[in-house]
Amino acid sequence: MNSPIANAHPSTTEPTNAPFDLVVIGGGSGGVASARRAAAHGAKVALIEKDRLGGTCVIRGCVPKKLMMYAAKFGRELAEAAPYGWTVDNAQFSLATWQANKRVEIDRLEGIYNRMLENSGVVVYRGNASIRDGRTVMVDDLTEIHAKRILIATGARANRHAVPGIEQAMTSDDLLDLSVLPKRLGVLGAGYIALEFASIMQGLGSEVTVFYRDQLPLRGFDRGMRAKLADALVAQGVCLMPGSAMRSVEKQDHATVVFAGDTAFEFDAVLNATGRSPNVHGLGLEALGVALASDGAIAVNEWSETSVPNVYAVGDVTNRMALTPVAIAEGRALVDNLFTGTQRTVNHASVATATFTMPPLSTVGLTEEAAAEQYGALRIYETEFRPMKVAFAGGTSKTAIKVIVDDASDRVLGVHMLGDDSPEIIQALAVAVTMGATKADLDRTIAVHPTTAEELVLLREVSRRVTRA
Ligand code: FAD
Repeated sequence: MNSPIANAHPSTTEPTNAPFDLVVIGGGSGGVASARRAAAHGAKVALIEKDRLGGTCVIRGCVPKKLMMYAAKFGRELAEAAPYGWTVDNAQFSLATWQANKRVEIDRLEGIYNRMLENSGVVVYRGNASIRDGRTVMVDDLTEIHAKRILIATGARANRHAVPGIEQAMTSDDLLDLSVLPKRLGVLGAGYIALEFASIMQGLGSEVTVFYRDQLPLRGFDRGMRAKLADALVAQGVCLMPGSAMRSVEKQDHATVVFAGDTAFEFDAVLNATGRSPNVHGLGLEALGVALASDGAIAVNEWSETSVPNVYAVGDVTNRMALTPVAIAEGRALVDNLFTGTQRTVNHASVATATFTMPPLSTVGLTEEAAAEQYGALRIYETEFRPMKVAFAGGTSKTAIKVIVDDASDRVLGVHMLGDDSPEIIQALAVAVTMGATKADLDRTIAVHPTTAEELVLLREVSRRVTRA
């Protein structure tokens, strides 16, 4: 049933059937942020969500994934605790306990999203949205919503076409709802979602094998750091199968079988992490004339305008950079422009990001390959070391740091770090890189000692000089 749950600021001057200034389709990261910001600007806003408020990130993405990563990391830290004097006997992981607590936490967060929208005066409709014309959106084909502008923020879902039979495999949604830990897990794909779950599940006790076509995982990241991450995953115990020619996936009795090259690999569960497709079907985009890009995403310009006037799109459905903070930034820039007359765009080039493997790989700015292509002459500063905490416990895992500097201007073009806490460190450093920090700025920064991050301001020797190939 369609139930507007909130209208905290009913207008006394407008007739009640006046169109909304904006109707937002999708209550995920981009949709909720856009709706709230537009309402804060005084716009009359409706939002339609067919599932749970919070979208992919909160319900089946970033949040539960990171909670699962914490669970896996506790296991590793318990193992490392003995040299520090701790006796941890009989440590056991209970997936059931984690699941129960995760559900409570996700319900709590969804409640917060609900209240935030209610308090902003956004009218929320529950149901499946489809666009009838440039000013009318239907909810479940029953309720008509009239609006001056339409914003599509419907996100994306797991691909279902990379390999014949791949629908037999689980998606990340299923994996996050598992009730039993698979003893043997196959992972198809080597993007960040594939690697994160590979590392997490290995950390929780599964034997994980990852199949991918390239020679290195994590295409798009810095090549040298991709190689280091691959080594770190192998050291963790994950079996990597680069250059795999995946032929098909089949369910056989209780096993799921991956056929790759000439070999059949049997697993208790297989994760399909071969990529995500924008949610465009059933929205009525074709009839409306909204153009799609070659990858199936809604084609937008830098202002998030589609090919149809007054119809906009942000977030994963546009496949510009499928990350929560990017969806939020795109949505807020759009509604600021629409309702306050600013002319803001989002710079997708300097977005910091992390792959939450164990250890995580974090990055801001350009890869070495892209920097060489764009700037010509570079200085590369690199270091690799065993952090104090690891060395004391007799561990072998290393932290690796790479700083890429434009030789002509001394500007820091990219920073890449593989190691514990690197997402937190890169987030802070991203401010400096976004501001245009130079290597000299890093050099005159006094270190915090003893930390891992201090290495970032102590790199003095040029490791390599690179010029455009
Ligand atoms: P979504 O959050 O997907 O929201 C879209 C909403 O639209 C959904 O709620 C959907 O139900 C609704 N909807 C769709 N069609 C309709 C319709 N016809 N009618 C009504 N409602 C509709 N990003 C990060 O930044 N960091 C991470 O660590 C991270 N981890 C991730 C881990 C996983 C496993 C996954 C899958 C994603 C992860 N992401 C991460 C990506 C992040 O979740 C997305 O980039 C982000 O959620 C995109 O926001 P969005 O608003 O575009 O779409």
